[in-house]
Amino acid sequence: MDRIETDQMLADRGLRRTGARMAILTILERTNTHHSVSTLAQLAAAVRPTINASSVYRNVTAMTESGVLHCIEWAGELLYGLAITPHHHLICQPCGTLLEIPAGDLDRTAADLATGRRFTLNQAGQLLLGRCHQCSAA
Ligand SMILES: [Zn+2]
Ligand SMILES: [Zn+2]
Repeated sequence: MDRIETDQMLADRGLRRTGARMAILTILERTNTHHSVSTLAQLAAAVRPTINASSVYRNVTAMTESGVLHCIEWAGELLYGLAITPHHHLICQPCGTLLEIPAGDLDRTAADLATGRRFTLNQAGQLLLGRCHQCSAA
């Protein structure tokens, strides 16, 4: 995702492009994972010391309500990520690493559940628990 897409994403949802919003989106885009608001606040302050924690909280909430971000709950914490591309979450239980996989990767499973069990799987946002390659090797 480049800057123009990020701008468009905010504009489409009637959100103004502010320094704090751009910082949050850039962090999520670069780290390519999901973070708690407190981690986002730390990372944002490291990039731009003028962005305070309460501004990060406010903006994360506004962007989640408008669908730019979404949040998942893991280990008692809310983790926020970019919601633009539908995806599922692979979570390593021993170390807590979160990896995103495209929602399409579960299409087969979703189709099987729909025909076999008449169960409609949510198209995105699933938490799939397991072990990452590092924890498997250990
Ligand atoms: Zn996500
Ligand atoms: Zn792991």
